[in-house]
Amino acid sequence: MKIVLKTTTPTANPGEKGLGFGVFTDHMFTMDYEKGKGWHSPRITAVEPLMMHPGSAVLHYAQAVFEGMKAFKSKDDRVLLFRPEQNMQRMNRSCVRMNIPTFDEDLALEGIKKLVALEHRWIPREPGTSLYVRPFIIATDPFLGPSASSTYKFIVILAPVGAYLAGLNPVDIYVEPHYVRAIRGGTGNIKAAGNYAPQYVVQESASELGYAQVLWLDGVERKYVEEVGAMNVFFNIDGTLVTPDLGDTILPGVTRDSVIQLLKAWHIPVEERRLEIAELFEVYEQGKLIEAFGCGTAAAISPIGGLAWKDSKIKIAKGQVGEISKRLYETLTGMQTGELPDEYDWIVEAKS
Ligand SMILES: *Cc1c(COP(=O)(O)O)cnc(C)c1O
Repeated sequence: MKIVLKTTTPTANPGEKGLGFGVFTDHMFTMDYEKGKGWHSPRITAVEPLMMHPGSAVLHYAQAVFEGMKAFKSKDDRVLLFRPEQNMQRMNRSCVRMNIPTFDEDLALEGIKKLVALEHRWIPREPGTSLYVRPFIIATDPFLGPSASSTYKFIVILAPVGAYLAGLNPVDIYVEPHYVRAIRGGTGNIKAAGNYAPQYVVQESASELGYAQVLWLDGVERKYVEEVGAMNVFFNIDGTLVTPDLGDTILPGVTRDSVIQLLKAWHIPVEERRLEIAELFEVYEQGKLIEAFGCGTAAAISPIGGLAWKDSKIKIAKGQVGEISKRLYETLTGMQTGELPDEYDWIVEAKS
């Protein structure tokens, strides 16, 4: 970055502030877009509140996209990112769907690398912890007409985080019979800001019933499995790992893609196909539902201990962590933290 304006009041001991999605580091990356000028003025500055007109388009119509990735610190103090170019590509695909001007992925990634390298002291080292990287774009025109903005901000903020969900602990899942996450032709396959808040009320009802996450069914028939919370989902059916095939209602997770590549390399059969919720309960009765897990950047692998659908409840893998779930978790987190060799060229080092 040409411009790095360091804060004059850096946090003395970042670790003392704790971990969580609400603890932020001292600096952020920003660039601006104006029609005619394109994306310009990439810079790293102190984290500061945004000055926005209350009429700003994003506040009314949620013309906004985001990404989520993680930075890890290896034992030898290197700052590592996991397949970050995938997140930049997906963010641009999100932009296209939301009529937001696309950006230069290399430039954005350079900004992210500079920022995480600058903030390296904030990267926690305990197992399961990392520095969460949140790039996002918002529409900033002060204009109430429901049409695409002509100005935007691309911002990256960082938050040191602990293990998401319960770490590698199986959780119970509620299969949502009524509400859906995404519809065909909609925005379920991109990270559009507006996709997420409608899930809160559903998630909260499930929590009240004692379930950690919601399993989403398709929006037409409520028959096919789509995702678990904001994670992709895999089921081990009689030795074959089955995951819903991508369409425009499923978010193409970087973790999902990495899991598929690992399973193929390990010669474990993997199928991407339509999967009926009824099939899962049938194979369970036949003793063929061996294990299940959600996967995404936040948790890496999140084993599923049980499923509740209408009046049926099943326990998966006796509520224990499945063998493949464990192997995937250890492999992914091992590569991410530099403990295991990077056989797939997935690791990108951020240097200052
Ligand atoms: C981000 C996200 C995922 C996981 O994607 P990763 O790239 O693996 O982090 C899955 N489903 C939804 C709905 C998401 O928003």
